[in-house]
Amino acid sequence: MMLKQSSKKNLFINGKWQEAGDYYQLTSPYNGKFLASVPLANKREVEDALASAEIGAMKMKELTSLERSNVLERVSKLFEERSEEAAEILALECAKPIKAARAEIARTIETYKFASEEAKRIHGETIPMDAAKSGKGRFAYTIREPLGVIAAITPFNFPFNLVAHKLGPAFAAGNSIVLKPANQTPLSTLFTAELFEQAGLPDGALNVVTGRGSVIGDQLVRDPRVKMVTFTGSVEVGLGIKEKAGLKKITLELGSNSAVIIDGTDDLDAVVDRCVEGAYAFSGQVCISVQRIYVQEELYETFVERFAEKVKQLVIGDPLSEGTDLSAMINETEAERVERWIEEAAESGANITLGGKRIGAIFEPTIITGASSTLSISCKEAFAPVVTITPYDFLKDVVTCVNDSQYGLQAGVYTTSIHKAFDAIAALQVGGVMVNDVPTFRVDHMPYGGVKNSGTGREGIKYSIEEMTELKLVTIKF
Ligand code: NAP
Repeated sequence: MMLKQSSKKNLFINGKWQEAGDYYQLTSPYNGKFLASVPLANKREVEDALASAEIGAMKMKELTSLERSNVLERVSKLFEERSEEAAEILALECAKPIKAARAEIARTIETYKFASEEAKRIHGETIPMDAAKSGKGRFAYTIREPLGVIAAITPFNFPFNLVAHKLGPAFAAGNSIVLKPANQTPLSTLFTAELFEQAGLPDGALNVVTGRGSVIGDQLVRDPRVKMVTFTGSVEVGLGIKEKAGLKKITLELGSNSAVIIDGTDDLDAVVDRCVEGAYAFSGQVCISVQRIYVQEELYETFVERFAEKVKQLVIGDPLSEGTDLSAMINETEAERVERWIEEAAESGANITLGGKRIGAIFEPTIITGASSTLSISCKEAFAPVVTITPYDFLKDVVTCVNDSQYGLQAGVYTTSIHKAFDAIAALQVGGVMVNDVPTFRVDHMPYGGVKNSGTGREGIKYSIEEMTELKLVTIKF
């Protein structure tokens, strides 16, 4: 397979493909092959994008709900028509195995479809003003208005679908966007911009500036024309953005060290299969990847044995090969970081039950047992194909272990007891609890987001639209 597009890319500003002053060379994380020359946007180009987005916001506000819905529907259809090409871009620029890449495109199609449907359902409510002593003789209602210009900053790991989670709701609600994708995954974003252009999005509604996060990000976050920053990425960058954003609205979708509790099940093999998928899909570079597995003492030994058997069957290789389950991590530096964490675990007396080795940017699927909760591999976000498996006696105690984390995105709990399920639901400090599934479960219309250092605000189209609109109250005296 070959990348069909031109290898020199342009910025997308005010509906035009604009050459940049400077470029960087994008290469494949898997084999280092050159993929494209990508614009390294400078301050003036970001300024152009912001000015264009201001005009774009006015145009978007003028569109009817139906017109906005139709653009999003067309984009969903275009993704369907060009899905294989889009999947291939993912395999090339972020080394996502082609099976997982296709799954991301299927979700992207659905995310834009949800956005096109939600565009028709944005409304306020009437308020019974006469419930207040001084409210008699007044009628009141609310409307949801677009914010204007939104800055969206996205990570490398789901460069189509997480961009869809910014663009879909923002356009559904009538906003414009300046989008800064991760520097390793600009091709997917530029491809998305092409589809929006084809679908008839007004010029200036979408502006894509590629390049360095620290340079472009800073300028976007501080600019007074930007009314909201929606960011998905690491805690460190997210915290910095929050400090600089002032009174702008802000959504932060950050990291996690997600846990699953296996307290009881009628089908251990099915649980093992889901846990393997949850832990190793895209080499664990998923914000809700399974990182910590806690297994009830009576099931522990059997679980570890069957889990290890299953992990041994995973195929490591070229992301473009049909059989590949795991490929390179996003870069070698990340793989080296994981290697150090594994060494730290081994030195502390933990057992490397499987894997633990690195070849370049590829990290073997790894299982660690006997890890203490203070090790990096337990308490920080691994974002790598590594899990810890730990036995426990009582559900109450293990919920405390799960909560003993700076993060709180999603958690999973397998149980055959409805009482235990409700106990865990009440006690787990996370944004979402998946009963009888891994924390990695997500579909794109459900409310999604974290507590603690996992972020603030919720995505899932309807919920993002709430964040991306301002509530206006109208009262009429009669
Ligand atoms: P990252 O390093 O934080 O980068 C995310 C984005 O921020 C990139 O576009 C990056 O640009 C940009 N950036 C870097 N420095 C910046 C700055 N000073 N100001 C503004 N923007 C800046 O994250 P990543 O490695 O791409 O992604 C992995 C992280 O994302 C993990 O922590 C993962 O858990 C999290 N994530 C969370 C969710 C969720 O929904 N909760 C989903 C997916 C991923 P450059 O690429 O140019 O540096």
